[in-house]
Amino acid sequence: MNWKRTLGLDNLSEEYSFARDESTGYTSAKKIPDHWVPTTCGYCSVGCGIEIGVKDGRAVTSRPFAAHPVNRGKLCPKGLSEHYTLESENRATYPLLRQNGKLMRIGWDEALSVMAERFRATQKAYGPEALGVLSTGQLVTEEFYTLGKLVQLGFGTNNYDGNTTLCMASAVSGYKVSFGSDGPPGAYEDMERADMVLLIGANLADNHPILCQYLEANRNKTLIVADPRVSKTAMMADIHLPLKPRSDLALLNGIAHILVRYNLIDREYVDGHTAGFAELERFLDRYTPERVAELTGLSEETIFKTAVLYGRAKAGFIGWTMGVNHSTLGTATVNAICNLALLTGHIGRAGASPFSITGQCNAMGTREAGFASSLPGYRKFESAQDRADLAAIWGIDESRIPIKRGLAYPDIVEAAVAKRIRALWIIATNPLVSYPNQDVLRNGLSNLDFLVVQDGYHPTPTTELADLVLPAAIWGEKEGTYTNSERRVSKVNQAVAPQGEARSDFDIFLALAEKLGCREELYSGWTTVEDAFNEWRRVSQGRLCDYSGISYALLAEHGAVQWPLTEGAAPQRTSRLYSDGQFQTPDGRAKLVCTDWAPFPEQPTGHYPFVLNTGRTVEHWHTRTKTREVPILERLSPRAWLEMNPRDAKRLGLRSHDSVDVVSRRGRVRAVELRLTEITAPGQVFMPFHFAETNVNEVTQDAFDPISREPNYKQCAVRVERSGANA
Ligand code: SF4
Repeated sequence: MNWKRTLGLDNLSEEYSFARDESTGYTSAKKIPDHWVPTTCGYCSVGCGIEIGVKDGRAVTSRPFAAHPVNRGKLCPKGLSEHYTLESENRATYPLLRQNGKLMRIGWDEALSVMAERFRATQKAYGPEALGVLSTGQLVTEEFYTLGKLVQLGFGTNNYDGNTTLCMASAVSGYKVSFGSDGPPGAYEDMERADMVLLIGANLADNHPILCQYLEANRNKTLIVADPRVSKTAMMADIHLPLKPRSDLALLNGIAHILVRYNLIDREYVDGHTAGFAELERFLDRYTPERVAELTGLSEETIFKTAVLYGRAKAGFIGWTMGVNHSTLGTATVNAICNLALLTGHIGRAGASPFSITGQCNAMGTREAGFASSLPGYRKFESAQDRADLAAIWGIDESRIPIKRGLAYPDIVEAAVAKRIRALWIIATNPLVSYPNQDVLRNGLSNLDFLVVQDGYHPTPTTELADLVLPAAIWGEKEGTYTNSERRVSKVNQAVAPQGEARSDFDIFLALAEKLGCREELYSGWTTVEDAFNEWRRVSQGRLCDYSGISYALLAEHGAVQWPLTEGAAPQRTSRLYSDGQFQTPDGRAKLVCTDWAPFPEQPTGHYPFVLNTGRTVEHWHTRTKTREVPILERLSPRAWLEMNPRDAKRLGLRSHDSVDVVSRRGRVRAVELRLTEITAPGQVFMPFHFAETNVNEVTQDAFDPISREPNYKQCAVRVERSGANA
């Protein structure tokens, strides 16, 4: 007890004293740091530069890193309050092992020995493929590179994937099919330099808020936003296309039809750099404006206007995010976007790009350096040449490199349900909130013999189920690099010591390799993350994602630079892929792909009459593990809600702020606050996906894109009931 306070002698003057800070002005004295540490934001893929203010060894404030090329002196609410994530009460601070049903504290040495022994024993009993690994987009690139080697070569399983499959796998697959390789061709600057910007399923204002300044800086553009909701981004548009759920592919084919029929294409580009035009032309016959108007709910005039604006633009930009990717037709829709860019030659030039804006801070790092859906450096599992190249760099026998990718995320879950996967290692992700149709996942996890969860936070719904919890250092506590959506590599720096006994993921991987006896072979001479980065530079050399010219010293000098940068080359301000019209296919030509529209898998019925859409809100991040502990973000958005059109609510006798249940064939989310708004069209409802307490993934559907394996989060059939009505 504070006696001075009880006796009225302590008026909290220290707590509430103010002082003048050179950068922020008159401010709380305890928030004035001793020094600033430059780094990169650890939330989303925009990749803003940020500085952490450190006082007496603690992170006390955050501010924009003014010289950083991405954010130009601005941060969104999450970035501005990011330092709060470091000392939140739910940090994992020491290893825990389940003993007699309870998680008990143990030491690191024992934790890693138990993990190595249990994983080895499982693989001995059931085969190497009985081990699965689910990783993340949150680690630094050096850690992804290290982890990939450990999983594929150390443990010898290729059943390795990341939560990135829940997020942008369709963009990856689509780029691979159309251009022969992953890799977003454009840059953020293109949003400033395009005269026509089409955003499809991309609510930048909530999901990538700092990118809005690129749009706002461009006074000469026409901004068209295709979204079933009148999202905050749709409110910024010159033209909003409120298309029916999952009719984007029909719209894109309809635009392509008009471009071809009215000769709004760049024939020279098509002839010189693409393959498949004749077939595409025939295929597009069926996407007449009349039919597309019927499928999308948009007028023929609007579809024409969109096509003509894009076709006649000097530089046309198409950006997309999860509205496209979260679908059983995600890959096909990405191909249809790439078709438009190829037909018009809107690629590889300033302002002209088909551009996937990805999700997590380092989803790009795992796409490039990871060893999950591709071999490192965008090499292909199925290419003998790629496998031979990699084996030569690593000095290992080629036969150790898998000839095909292992199970993707949903297939690992299904394999756990079927007891083919017996042990699972989950790293920096929280599937017990984020995975669709939670019931299937719970079933799979309950079948496991051993579950290890490595995370910076505990408890989370997923760590609570673990047999072993490994506490990891997070953003601000470790070093490395992130790569953002425009291929810009940015340094991540340590500002404070990890909490408790937490260790960086890099340290954990090396220590585990030591236990397995493969450290010397896989990571000879490595002691720091820079050692991993330098090996990765060699592995990427000569590839599309060439990092060989990027060093830590160069990043310190320039703040952040884009790949590709070959050794010895000087960094440019902005680079674009495919400027020479040469693609990563065997004949160097990009593919025009015929992709047919189909209705989404679960259509509304009399019993489940609404189409449920899910998404984010600007205040929170993913499963809210971090942001619910940040006071200002949590106060701004403390609970989930369900958006419904007032006409539907009137029919159901519901009013704003009523407590409702959302029910699908798979489950029920109870006691959600109803919000009535014209943002959502009649027949549709929307709910954010961040909230474990009212988890929308109890009702979402486990249907997946057949190529990318990304879930169809965006549309499923539900009904809405007043809470307690049928309890
Ligand atoms: S826009 Fe993304 S990267 Fe930038 S501050 Fe916000 S969360 Fe961080």
